[in-house]
Amino acid sequence: MPVLVMKFGGTSVATLDRIKRAAKRVSREVANGNDVIVVVSAMSGETNKLVGYVNETSPMYDAREYDAIVSSGENVTAGLMALTLQEMDIPARSWQGWQVPLKTTSAHGAARIEDIPTDNITEKFGEGMKVAVVAGFQGISAEGRITTLGRGGSDTTAVAFAAAFDAIRCDIYTDVDGVYTTDPRITKKARKMEKVSFEEMLEMASLGAKVLQTRSVELAMRYKVKLRVLSSFEEYDPNAGTLICAEEDIVENNVVSGVTASRDEAKMTLVSVADRPGIAAAIFGPLAEAGVNVDMIIQNISEEGRTDMTFSCPVDQVSRAQNAVSAAKERGEVNFEELVCDTEVAKISLVGIGMRSQSGVAAKMFKTLSDEGVNIKVIATSEIKVSVLVDRKYTELAVQALHDAFELEKA
Ligand code: ADP
Ligand code: ASP
Ligand code: MG
Repeated sequence: MPVLVMKFGGTSVATLDRIKRAAKRVSREVANGNDVIVVVSAMSGETNKLVGYVNETSPMYDAREYDAIVSSGENVTAGLMALTLQEMDIPARSWQGWQVPLKTTSAHGAARIEDIPTDNITEKFGEGMKVAVVAGFQGISAEGRITTLGRGGSDTTAVAFAAAFDAIRCDIYTDVDGVYTTDPRITKKARKMEKVSFEEMLEMASLGAKVLQTRSVELAMRYKVKLRVLSSFEEYDPNAGTLICAEEDIVENNVVSGVTASRDEAKMTLVSVADRPGIAAAIFGPLAEAGVNVDMIIQNISEEGRTDMTFSCPVDQVSRAQNAVSAAKERGEVNFEELVCDTEVAKISLVGIGMRSQSGVAAKMFKTLSDEGVNIKVIATSEIKVSVLVDRKYTELAVQALHDAFELEKA
């Protein structure tokens, strides 16, 4: 029997009624002759609530217990989905990550999948089970502890199962009907794309389009998983949604395909650092050891042997970053006058494979933002993206202006 993977996100399983609705979709795919692996998220809002409990109980929490707690939302929806399917006379059962077992690294809170043995579930399919409902987002480490895959990680669970079971497709059901040129909550002019390349989706995901977790796109690209994003609220249509596929399979190639915004950014500047060989290593080594995900970096031109070093990182890592550089200063490894933090910034990015062969995108982006009076604080570019940091209050304005300037509403 062909295996199909269907993933339902938080809003798609937010109530018992919605679980029923999702189960109906599953039943249709079973009727079409598939064995189905359903991956579920926690009910929407549930994981946030659990994270809140952890932070309130223990601000410097033990990450192993964090995972034990925040993974639990998915256990509930997996069981409920299995029960709902059974009520519809579809042979189904639930699987928590450890039961599969979905084996991961021990990096609690951001674990990576190492292996998904298929024998347990395949055996059950052989015995007549039609649907394996898997709790997304969670796994088990070699030490036997529960792990989680990072926020939005159920997408990655789904794609990893699709790869492991050589599924015919991995359908990601969510609250929008596909991948748009930008977050449809920011502008009504956002246009749904029929297809988007793995490379562009990878950039868009890592730059803030949370419709897919970045790691899920990486896995889909590596294992050639046929990945589709579609709405769980719309009527059944076999051609619905957006297909994430290889670049060769896309006919139209826009220079810019999408605009993304990531609000949870911070900018930190070490003022007046002694400019000497090894200074960057002395700063960024301790930051890396402290688990700070440094993104953009700028070093100013030095004057009289001193320079300013600016970097950006996620806003919830600011205190960790402050501690790391302050400790390095105390140890005499770096010497700076002041550490200035700006925790009110957002990163706005343009993504498009066409940028490889077309110049002028960055210049047009800067002009558009300047016409809107938006000041650019940091710039970074790569082959298929341009990113800028701006004041967070300009997020919507910047996205809308860029979406207009690059005429993304037009196919
Ligand atoms: P789920 O709970 O189903 O995993 P998420 O909230 O994680 O859903 O992701 C879906 C959301 O992603 C949408 O509601 C939308 O606001 C947001 N989003 C951001 N950028 C985009 C984009 N380019 N295309 C579609 N959705 C996007
Ligand atoms: N429930 C988890 C989260 O909210 C995983 C997911 O929904 O993908 O991050
Ligand atoms: Mg999600």
